[in-house]
Amino acid sequence: MKAVYINENGPPEVIKIGEIPLRELKPNEVRIKVKAAGINHLDIWVRKGLPGLSLKFPHVLGADAAGIVEEIGENVEGIKKGDKVLIYPAIFCGRCEKCISGNENLCKEYKIFGERTQGVESEYINVPKENVFLIPENISFVEAAAIPLALLTAVQMVEKANPEPGMNCLVMAAGSGVSLNLIQILKMIKCNVFVTAGNKEKIERAKWFGADDGIVYTEDNWEKKLKNICEKIDIIFDHTGKEFWEKLIKIVNWGGKIVICGATSGYDARIDLRHVFFRQIQIIGSTMGTRRHLLKGLEYVKKGFIKISISKVLNFEKAQEAHRLIEERKVFGKIVLKF
Ligand SMILES: [Zn+2]
Repeated sequence: MKAVYINENGPPEVIKIGEIPLRELKPNEVRIKVKAAGINHLDIWVRKGLPGLSLKFPHVLGADAAGIVEEIGENVEGIKKGDKVLIYPAIFCGRCEKCISGNENLCKEYKIFGERTQGVESEYINVPKENVFLIPENISFVEAAAIPLALLTAVQMVEKANPEPGMNCLVMAAGSGVSLNLIQILKMIKCNVFVTAGNKEKIERAKWFGADDGIVYTEDNWEKKLKNICEKIDIIFDHTGKEFWEKLIKIVNWGGKIVICGATSGYDARIDLRHVFFRQIQIIGSTMGTRRHLLKGLEYVKKGFIKISISKVLNFEKAQEAHRLIEERKVFGKIVLKF
């Protein structure tokens, strides 16, 4: 079967399209004919190479996929051939205390597809039955493939922040898939939502998704301009990391929270701890989310609270181009590969 894979770390040119073998289906697995695969920033990091992450080449890329059930293992019930499904994008042991208490994303054996285990950008995938969820009826394969990782990440972040109606929230880098979900969930809860983005066009699009107002963070003194549109920010949602961290610590209100799920601009940020203890700021880490968070997010989609933003749909053979577009920050919303 055809797949999108790499044999070495490097620039987008290392991405190859070629034949790989389809392994045998295990009794507890479901085989899915992939129709669409959504690309995440994680895929870019994996392709470039992450410290401490050793890949088994050829390494198939991708965490998010949607498709049609092709075959079920002998121990699988409740899922049938022909079902339209999307997948929860990671595997876990299912036996440890974290897994049993519904915190599978804290499991020591937690592996995101396309990162610590083989990815989903291939014509067929075999995944454990626990990973398979029906696609809401009003959603296409392309939209479904754009949903899982970004949505469950946003749902967990909002749960951890626990905002109240009327609170002022700041969502950093409004063009990303996670940020667009955050904006819509926070509006659903009736928070005031402010955003930052790389240009005015992205701010306008964020407003279309419900944001109240925004600031272009490539301009000088953007944090002062932010103060003009919102006096106090109660909660900040960030995945930019180092570049803006010192400013974020100063922007957030006394007793406020910063929830961080990534560090796209660098991880070795400087923190003035006096602000953290004296102004009693909470810094909350968040990575991925659980299957419960995915189901909760899918309910929001079904009820129309969340619109899926697709920036571009490309044939899977154009995976190199897809990676380039994301790296050059030329996208607003998700890029999806069609199979
Ligand atoms: Zn576990």
